[in-house]
Amino acid sequence: MNNSIVNVPEPVNEPIKDYKPNSPEKDSVLATYKNLKDSKTDIKMWIGGKFIESSKTSNMSPPHDHKHILGKYYLAEKKHVEMAIKSALDAKEKWAEMRWEERAAIFLKAAELVAGPYRDRINAATMLAQSKTIFQAEIDAACELVDFLKFNVFSMQHIYSQQPKSDSGVWNRLGYRPLEGFVYAVTPFNFTAISGNLPGSAAMMGNTVVWKPSDHQIFSAKIVIDIFREAGLPDGVINAVYGDPEMITNTILESKHFAGIHFTGSTSVFKGLWKKIGGNIENYNSYPRIVGETGGKDFIIGHKSADVDEFVTAVIRGAFEFQGQKCSAASRVYVPNSLSKKFFSKLESEIAKIKMGSPEDFKNFMTAVIHEASFDKLVNAIENAKTDKDAEVVIGGGYDKSKGYFIEPTVIKTSNPKYYSMETELFGPVVTIYEYDDNKWDETLKIVDETSEYALTGAVFCEDRYILSDAVNKLKNCAGNFYINDKCTGAVVGQQPFGGARGSGTNDKAGSYLNLLRWVSPRLIKEVFVPPKDFKYPFMG
Ligand code: NAD
Repeated sequence: MNNSIVNVPEPVNEPIKDYKPNSPEKDSVLATYKNLKDSKTDIKMWIGGKFIESSKTSNMSPPHDHKHILGKYYLAEKKHVEMAIKSALDAKEKWAEMRWEERAAIFLKAAELVAGPYRDRINAATMLAQSKTIFQAEIDAACELVDFLKFNVFSMQHIYSQQPKSDSGVWNRLGYRPLEGFVYAVTPFNFTAISGNLPGSAAMMGNTVVWKPSDHQIFSAKIVIDIFREAGLPDGVINAVYGDPEMITNTILESKHFAGIHFTGSTSVFKGLWKKIGGNIENYNSYPRIVGETGGKDFIIGHKSADVDEFVTAVIRGAFEFQGQKCSAASRVYVPNSLSKKFFSKLESEIAKIKMGSPEDFKNFMTAVIHEASFDKLVNAIENAKTDKDAEVVIGGGYDKSKGYFIEPTVIKTSNPKYYSMETELFGPVVTIYEYDDNKWDETLKIVDETSEYALTGAVFCEDRYILSDAVNKLKNCAGNFYINDKCTGAVVGQQPFGGARGSGTNDKAGSYLNLLRWVSPRLIKEVFVPPKDFKYPFMG
């Protein structure tokens, strides 16, 4: 038995590799991409440490080459979900009783595996499954996942060390128990790092988990599973099932041992889950924790004092990187009249330089959107804007799904600040711009605040400090992550804890101690060393 009080390593953010032309890292990741592309991978469910097949499968294809088959995955039946719940419950006691340093070691090892031997595989799988360029894959699947794992371990130690005061003759101790029961993690397609973090952070705090990844990310989720296994995660601590989200969720929510949900995805799905949990509340052993990070309608507003080159660069990177499929992507922009001419001319000439195609070609800045339903929804919005009286497509507006789901970077200009695409999350490379009167800055800030149900990210470009500090205050409730003279995407774990309020989620800040606190149930132990032997108090004479 080691009786020391240990310190975990101080985390630093994982350095981002460049993948420059002729670099060894470029050759290496491309070779892995080619291997994985032709691998015909068979992905089984992961339950109780075993890989489980079912009678039904579904194919996986890269969004930029949808006729190509990467492999198949097995779809859960109700009995598989029940098996996963049982495995999580069976694994619970041993895992919860394990010393926290041992849990930390497993996740620190996972971080090193991502950063080193698995880096190419997890990046290449993300390029194929979610159609990310190498840079977008690197900052997500490699760097952000490493950061989540390392910073969470550090936060876990920080939480466990928080202790109450003790009076003389008394010792108060606070223990941080995992939740009673199991946690359900539901992850979106768009970040491989999130797919590892949602089940991983709850498990790190001593919980066992049933995890349902998005159907459109299973190819890269499997690499996360391989990493957890190699890092030594015991059987049954995390169990992965795939397929029908309704059936899987209903089966999970029927269990009285359901202790919490760690969700990231769209707002409507999260609201539906919250209602179902509320409807079942009498059935549970405790009040389930409900943590959800959801949609956004993220804005950039430029003041007349803004630097136009900086403003335009932020709009292009914020709106079009990863085809606008980040929850934080800029999708509504406010431009003052006085900058409008210069702004649109620069925006057009810069967008003309954007290349789009397969992520295999590193010259491409953009690739395809995730699936046909997303493509069709975006096309519909673009076509409507072409005919609507209060909107016009001023840049882009083309699309083609013959090989992959490609949508051109598209700019809609509207005269109506409440136009459909100013309010609704489209989740694609479409940004809508409203031009406002320079003299109506205050009114425009109010419009920014009141336009959508979301409050995830937002940015202001402004060189006037009085105006800036006023705007930061006036916009305080419309973004959980607010940026000054920067794009509204690209939050880094440990630096910009991420999450939004209003319709954008419970704002529990993934990758920070605030999130990890949701996965523990503190227990206070008070010990009195010399207890009184007489019930009477002095005031009673
Ligand atoms: P989605 O809501 O379609 O799916 C998310 C997950 O929920 C998937 O695993 C999916 O299978 C599951 N799901 C779908 N319907 C369900 C149902 N009826 N019951 C239970 N589960 C169900 O979202 P997506 O397309 O994968 O991801 C994009 C969305 O996620 C966007 O709205 C984006 O803004 C949001 N997002 C938010 C954050 C954040 O931190 N705020 C981060 C990433 C993505």
